[in-house]
Amino acid sequence: MRDDAPRSWDSRAEAATFYGFTDLPSVAQRGTVVLTHGEGPYVFDTAGKRYFDSNSGLWNMVAGFDHPKLAEAAKAQYDRFPGYHAFFGRMSDQTVMLSERLVEVSPFASGKVFYTNSGSEANDTMVKMLWFLGGAEGQPQRRKIITRWNSYHGVTAVSASMTGKPYNSVFGLPLPGFLHVGSPHYWRFGQEGETEEAFTQRLAHELEATIIKEGPDTIAGFFAEPVIGAGGVIPPSKGYFQAIQAVLKRYGIPLIADEVICGFGRTGNVWGSQTFDFVPDAIIASKAMTAGYFPMGAVVLGPELAQRLQNASEAIEEFPHGFTASGHPVGCAVSLAAIDLILNGGLLDNVRALTPRFEAGMAELAGHANIGEWRGAGLMGALEAVQDKATKTPFASNLSVSERIANTCTDHGLICRPLGQSIVLCPPFICTESHLDEMFEKLAAALRQVF
Ligand code: PLP
Repeated sequence: MRDDAPRSWDSRAEAATFYGFTDLPSVAQRGTVVLTHGEGPYVFDTAGKRYFDSNSGLWNMVAGFDHPKLAEAAKAQYDRFPGYHAFFGRMSDQTVMLSERLVEVSPFASGKVFYTNSGSEANDTMVKMLWFLGGAEGQPQRRKIITRWNSYHGVTAVSASMTGKPYNSVFGLPLPGFLHVGSPHYWRFGQEGETEEAFTQRLAHELEATIIKEGPDTIAGFFAEPVIGAGGVIPPSKGYFQAIQAVLKRYGIPLIADEVICGFGRTGNVWGSQTFDFVPDAIIASKAMTAGYFPMGAVVLGPELAQRLQNASEAIEEFPHGFTASGHPVGCAVSLAAIDLILNGGLLDNVRALTPRFEAGMAELAGHANIGEWRGAGLMGALEAVQDKATKTPFASNLSVSERIANTCTDHGLICRPLGQSIVLCPPFICTESHLDEMFEKLAAALRQVF
């Protein structure tokens, strides 16, 4: 090729962008899909091909890709006041309003909000808050963090240490003091003859044994996603959060709900913790909080943690932590508009209305000989591919069946995500039943082609 010959988008993408979370052999073989615009739940590539995005971007684009109200909220705020932080005794009016709104929609009677740019940073921030409290309250040894295997909490050094995925070992993570207990996936980890209730009790005992072994006064907090998301959409086993919270309460350990995926409607309630009937001590939020139209995250503290952190900060005059764009007024304006769309604009109602159709479609696909189970909550679900349905024998891990299914779907104009041996679906909240039908038809066609 001549040096001045036009190069494809594909080769330009690969030449100058360093990929993360991307299967490089697959990109080498298939190239990169370069996207230019979106319409509702669809995105379009440089060749004009249309894809239904059953992943809502990365769980976040819940209002689709061209919602005028979100673009207008951002534009209006850019025109009015484009940027500020939430420190040094100053913050924007939008930040004030969003904090009030977040506390109002939270499960807490009162509370406080701290802003970040992402979910990872919000988890990091919460861990630093817990470490800060330990030091301030005369318990500097209270630093250990417990999470679950298969959980996903982010990519910063701390949030990746919390994440229960083996791939983080390439970074030498987890850092010391980050402990993992069992995943509440009954179908996969329940033992022969064990009831779901007994499985839940086994996990609660494991947690308690871990706390006792490590020393209860060394544990700073327990973090859990109401439904594990990037670990393959794993809802809790029956009674899980009630059993876990009883153990944590016995030892005075806060329960932090990482609601980055579940928060703002995904499971059919504002919070996943509502769907699974527990009230945490604090909430980690991001993603749908701005419907993906601005990068933003938040720690929403319940009343007790808010008060203790306030006291500890006043004792040394400040909480020494924050990001340049914490509480960015454009992000806050977008978030206020997104929350309004979800709660008052019919999006949450639509999640509830679509859930039976979503569940029926998942159940039908789970009838396939190579789908071991489907699982999910609200508008998030996963189909687990297995080699042998009766014995639940997985495909060999080097045989990425889910990757092949997802690639075939891409060919058919459907974006869906392979996660381990599962295919994950979490369509935007603005979908109609016919969008779901299109999604399931394309996925069924891909399954027929792959198996
Ligand atoms: N927590 C959960 C439950 C997530 O699913 C994610 C991202 O997918 C994160 C935290 C990290 O958020 P971010 O990618 O915005 O840093």
